[in-house]
Amino acid sequence: MPRALIAGAGIGGLSCGIALARAGWQVQIFEQAANLSEIGAGVQLGPNATRILDHWKLLPALRQSAFKPAALCARDWRSGQVLNRSPLNADPAADGGSPYLQLHRADLQAVLRSALESLAGAQLLLDHPVDGVDPDTASLSCGGRIFRGDLVVGADGIRSTLRHLLFSDSATRYTGQSAWRLMLPANRLPAGLIPPETSLWMGPGRHLVHYYVRGGQLVNVVGVVEQPDWTPANWVEAADFAELQADFRGAHPDIQALIAAAESLPCYRWALHDRAPMPQWYRARALLLGDACHPTLPFLAQGAAMAIEDAAVLAGELARSADIEAALQRYQERRQPRTRWVQQASRRNARIFHLRGVAAGLRNWTMRHGLAGPGRLTRRLYEHDVLHPGARD
Ligand code: FAD
Repeated sequence: MPRALIAGAGIGGLSCGIALARAGWQVQIFEQAANLSEIGAGVQLGPNATRILDHWKLLPALRQSAFKPAALCARDWRSGQVLNRSPLNADPAADGGSPYLQLHRADLQAVLRSALESLAGAQLLLDHPVDGVDPDTASLSCGGRIFRGDLVVGADGIRSTLRHLLFSDSATRYTGQSAWRLMLPANRLPAGLIPPETSLWMGPGRHLVHYYVRGGQLVNVVGVVEQPDWTPANWVEAADFAELQADFRGAHPDIQALIAAAESLPCYRWALHDRAPMPQWYRARALLLGDACHPTLPFLAQGAAMAIEDAAVLAGELARSADIEAALQRYQERRQPRTRWVQQASRRNARIFHLRGVAAGLRNWTMRHGLAGPGRLTRRLYEHDVLHPGARD
């Protein structure tokens, strides 16, 4: 039985472990953290991701803790005027196997972990930071111990150690944008404040997204603000509630009410980092997957979905032949164009969301009159089916 050694047990690493173990591989996942815990934040999964999770038979478990939004609604952040409302989960046929779901990250992680650990030959090793890799012998090292396999997967996130070891790559770049992330109990909010849909409020140099998770018990909030002068010492920094309030001063009263409900909670500001698309994703029998090779800004809500797609494509290509390096070449060829497009479209969305003055007025007018909106983009994202042999990548 071939053996895969995977660095990182995020959404990408766990998905890769599930995909490979289902395809008959022995899998060991090495996670640096002593406990697998997720930040208190939400994650949206489009049909392109849930179709794969359904194939892995995980949808029933995910549905228990997910929320299914009715639409994506874009509004002007000050007036609250609806600029565009695109239905989600409207097609009952697609809903069966590829719904649009919103989850607390801990709930998604729990489902993925339990699926992995129920598969024969799969093992999760916590407190195992990977510090070395040899792509020619498909081995990695961890605190002085060497582990040998047939394949090494670097799924160790945007600050990937494996990316650095394999490609001596450049550092990440602060995008000049920071993100507030809040998780609020729905029962602490005024009744009717949060509709059962994803709300996107667009304002000058900032935007705010909110949606329900955990069956509607919690509301996830992400507020992104352009902050080019900030020089973050850390990726996440504790910040004052007053700063959060100041960042959204002047916004619609619904946003103010939402933020006011966070007054007693600890507030954190994330520095959003980026990296240019990379030309080569593998060396010999070691490859990168997920944020390690294509970190994706959150403005399309597709970074985790791309990691899940990577995992499914990798397992599919490895199943097609015994030649691992040839499979890795096909994996790279299939995944690079799509992930590059998603990285670039996510960056472009930030510019559109944050327009000011006349440009913002024009954006709002074209959206209100149905001349612009997420339609074509979301079709290209959501209809993509990596499991189907004829799928266009
Ligand atoms: P990570 O989640 O970063 O996991 C990497 C893992 O590797 C971690 O567990 C880490 O501890 C471990 N690790 C690191 N180094 C080592 C080492 N040396 N040895 C062993 N283990 C190691 N995406 C969506 O699809 N939908 C969304 O709605 C969405 N919203 C987002 C909102 C925000 C504000 C942000 C910032 C991102 C969002 N994303 C979203 C993107 C998504 O979170 C990421 O793309 C995704 O989590 C990447 O998963 P990953 O497994 O590749 O990396």
